[in-house]
Amino acid sequence: MKTTTDRTTDAIALEDEHTAHNYHPLPVVVASGEGAWVTDVEGRRYLDCLAAYSAVNFGHGNPRLIAAAREQLDRITLTSRAFHNDRLGPFVTELAALCGKDMVLPMNTGAEAVESGIKVARAWGYRVKGVAPDAANIIVMTGNFHGRTTTIISFSDDPDAHDDFGPYTPGFRMVPYGDAAAVDAAIDENTVAVLVEPIQGEAGIVVPPVEFLPELRALTRERNVLLIADEIQSGLGRVGATFACELVGVVPDLYLLGKALGGGIVPVSAVVGDRDVLGVLQPGQHGSTFGGNPLGAAVGLEVVRMLATGEPQERARALGAHLQDRLVSLVGSGLVAVRGAGLWAGVDIDPAIATGREACEALMRRGVLAKDTHGPTIRLAPPIVVEQADLDWAVDQLEAVLAELRG
Ligand SMILES: *Cc1c(COP(=O)(O)O)cnc(C)c1O
Repeated sequence: MKTTTDRTTDAIALEDEHTAHNYHPLPVVVASGEGAWVTDVEGRRYLDCLAAYSAVNFGHGNPRLIAAAREQLDRITLTSRAFHNDRLGPFVTELAALCGKDMVLPMNTGAEAVESGIKVARAWGYRVKGVAPDAANIIVMTGNFHGRTTTIISFSDDPDAHDDFGPYTPGFRMVPYGDAAAVDAAIDENTVAVLVEPIQGEAGIVVPPVEFLPELRALTRERNVLLIADEIQSGLGRVGATFACELVGVVPDLYLLGKALGGGIVPVSAVVGDRDVLGVLQPGQHGSTFGGNPLGAAVGLEVVRMLATGEPQERARALGAHLQDRLVSLVGSGLVAVRGAGLWAGVDIDPAIATGREACEALMRRGVLAKDTHGPTIRLAPPIVVEQADLDWAVDQLEAVLAELRG
């Protein structure tokens, strides 16, 4: 008879044997989930403090989203955009309204939204701004994370993401994140866009100086350059607002959305902007077999309707303020820094006591799933539906782990 521990070991061995080793997961095998909690193959419960990198903002098995998906599963799931479907219109109309924009380019994954934003910006540069053929450049930031395609990793400064995948796509200029003067200096007559994460997620929840995005907005407007905000992880409620840009009163030319847009059910991403920019695309110039599919559109529509009430944003704001307060009180007791916005926190573990990975393993043993990012940093981003008592319990576990590690 198999013991419960065999179940975990066997499941991991089976997955590892035939999966490319492009991830290093924590040794937990999740079998089901509800709300902010998941259960492993041995029946142990964990509070999910990663929420699939914010793709599960509305919780596992969110009843409204599951109902929307179920209903659509029984009608039709995929038509391709060779034909119209009756879910795409309502989805793009309400998503555009949520963003205060005219048009939506529906795609699937985040990286595709970024790629699409780059193509739109270049086409806008040549057709509207009048940049010379093939001369366009786009300004990007140090520490960026925009996905994993060959073009996107061409402008990553993370060696793991970048090295050995060349030759690289040209046309990008990197400047220090948070430095508007450096962006200003890098812009020339061929610059078509500045691509920025309003808060850098993978870099460790790095919040730029408050004046950074407003300064970028002013100088991109002045120099006739598009401002593209990658809100794939920061957007759709996580930071206590619909968009992280909103926290500093900035409206970009293009929003790149993904992750939570698919409700944790299907991949749904989008580029959202006004007609003067997104309108440059003509039939045949861009596309995706699955982009705008009725199942994704039905789920995305329900996500947009939930956000249109403002309730998830308000909940993330209130819970986030509480979380930040509690985390700040741990600085000096095993944490060296806490950053964040809304229900999104990056905490730096004192490197003298443990790595981020070791702290995550210790948290896992206590029933909290979190993910390290870049060495000493742990990211905390539970589903927004988390109960405050559960959130407090998770911070208690972190406090206990830090005490253990301090010895
Ligand atoms: C996750 C992420 C992406 C890429 O999304 P995928 O769906 O994994 O392709 C792009 N930008 C940011 C800011 C992200 O966090």
